[in-house]
Amino acid sequence: MHKNDELYICRVCGLEQSEPQWGIDGESPTYNICECCGVEFGYEDSTLIGIRTYRDKWIKSGAKWNCVKYQPISWSLNKQLANVPKKYL
Ligand SMILES: [Zn+2]
Repeated sequence: MHKNDELYICRVCGLEQSEPQWGIDGESPTYNICECCGVEFGYEDSTLIGIRTYRDKWIKSGAKWNCVKYQPISWSLNKQLANVPKKYL
């Protein structure tokens, strides 16, 4: 049931991750790259300002998937953004 845990959610785009990208303590980032928004966990998403700035830029440039092959056919940006924990909005 960990899938609903916010540790598995990208703070920028809301994509569910296969591992907790900030570690199970939420303080040990993996520096992986989000398949969707392309954020580097532990870098651009390390502050609220950084998260908002990156998200704005990403959406304004068309909200393109970083790894297009993983994009679900019926993908909805708004549905996915609704996964972002409120404290990161
Ligand atoms: Zn993301």
